[in-house]
Amino acid sequence: MIWTIVGTIAIVLGAIGIGVVVDRKWHILPRKDRLQAASRPRLAAAVKAAIHAAGEAPGTARAARASELPTLRARRCATCHAPTEPQPDDHVMYDGRELLVLHDRCTRCDHVRATYVDVR
Ligand SMILES: [Zn+2]
Repeated sequence: MIWTIVGTIAIVLGAIGIGVVVDRKWHILPRKDRLQAASRPRLAAAVKAAIHAAGEAPGTARAARASELPTLRARRCATCHAPTEPQPDDHVMYDGRELLVLHDRCTRCDHVRATYVDVR
């Protein structure tokens, strides 16, 4: 009876030992550093997708001079590229700076866009 238990334990330990030796020699199991390296491009893509383009959010406000504002107001719709008409501006405080928020509405699809500008 005791030899049955000892034999089973010996077989299990032997199989584990063989598995460890085989893995060390041929790298069968994935390594932590390789898994992390493989996940970095996907993480970078997810972070990039979450980041707003210039002017789309207060954190990515466009730096512009007052002379550039007419150009920013005359942009075309981001959705359908039709002309837009300016809407009343807003001012917001963000991170200790006062930002100008330009609003424009598409004349075709009614898409309203806000553009955050840090006027210098
Ligand atoms: Zn549009």
